[in-house]
Amino acid sequence: MPSARENARMLSIDEARARVLAAVRPLPPTPVPVTDALDRVLCADVVAAGAVPPFANSAMDGFAVPPGAAGRRLPIVGESRAGHPASVALDGEQAIRISTGAMLPAGAEAVIMVERTREHPDGTVELDAEVAAGQNVRPAGDDVPAGEVLVRAGTRLGPAELGAAVSAGAASVVCGGRPRVEVISTGDELQEPGLPLGPGRLHDSNAVTVAALARRAGARDVRRAHAGDALRPTREAIGRALERADVVVLTGGVSVGPHDHVKPALDAAGVEEVFWRVALRPGKPTWFGTRDGVLVFGLPGNPVSAMVTFLLFARPALLALQGAEPHARRIRAELTQAMPRTPGRDELVRVTLDGSRATPTGPQGSHRLSSMLGAGGLAIVPAGEGELAAGTQVVVELL
Ligand code: AMP
Ligand code: MG
Repeated sequence: MPSARENARMLSIDEARARVLAAVRPLPPTPVPVTDALDRVLCADVVAAGAVPPFANSAMDGFAVPPGAAGRRLPIVGESRAGHPASVALDGEQAIRISTGAMLPAGAEAVIMVERTREHPDGTVELDAEVAAGQNVRPAGDDVPAGEVLVRAGTRLGPAELGAAVSAGAASVVCGGRPRVEVISTGDELQEPGLPLGPGRLHDSNAVTVAALARRAGARDVRRAHAGDALRPTREAIGRALERADVVVLTGGVSVGPHDHVKPALDAAGVEEVFWRVALRPGKPTWFGTRDGVLVFGLPGNPVSAMVTFLLFARPALLALQGAEPHARRIRAELTQAMPRTPGRDELVRVTLDGSRATPTGPQGSHRLSSMLGAGGLAIVPAGEGELAAGTQVVVELL
């Protein structure tokens, strides 16, 4: 067991994350058709090329009429439908039939809704209510004036952002590049999902969870590879991954046991170490380095450690590569149970959240992937002695 003094020399979570982010060079932005841009990160503000709506129009089905008193009976001189503006202007005490969203005829400044009118067979309409200037009219630019910034760079584009960009005239939007990721799981014990397990073997869950986390963080073309516990195959797998990926994520084999080959293999592949070991639990042996701009993470093999360290360090890097805000949202919440503290290491406790109350998901061993199920956040129990009492406020990083 390393002493608390040894632990104290390790980087904190925030220091380690800052070093990762300092190594990120965002991928070149490209124009992306709006139809393909869902979940992409916007890299240049969307500015409204024209006003939205582009013309003054009616908020109701009814009649465009001059403002005035109730009880008037006006001749119907034309019609304005969606996509088919009236061919005549409103000239004095007249009415033009109008549909919702249709262009307000020239000379018109108010609309009376159809429910407040009665049409007569002689081509006139009787107004049962007073009409005020501007009534039921949506002016041009009512939603967005021309030239206004509609969606800011850094936003992840959802359906509303895409629709707003289209309504303001955009056919494509400038988005950050999507990183290519290669996940290399290491370990002689690992078996493909679903295949029968021999003695001492287990299914390779990291390759699937880590690839899924990468995809969720916006990665494209996420590939998986496996290397056994020997230097040469590990070195070769790293070499292949470095050729094609922007980010390489290894899991397992990053400690100092006789069968841990990841660090020497990274060294042999020319990947330069930025840090190894972070004062956190789970995930202490986390390794990070770079080669020619490719970011390389060596995550510990225990399934929870791999997920937690991916979320803390690799996810922010993937987001920053795309031009997005890298930091997960943090809230303050109250622990509903006492939690033991670890000397020299912050502990990331998987919690469910109910408002500002954080409840641990159950036993927190780094091999218990079930502790991630249903977790809404990672509560940070600060390093220290003894325990944190129930009711203590902690910082929770939201998942
Ligand atoms: P390691 O970091 O290689 O020492 O692995 C630590 C623990 O995590 C061991 O119990 C491994 O069997 C387990 N482990 C390593 N890699 C994986 C993986 N890809 N999927 C599931 N468990 C793993
Ligand atoms: Mg291993």
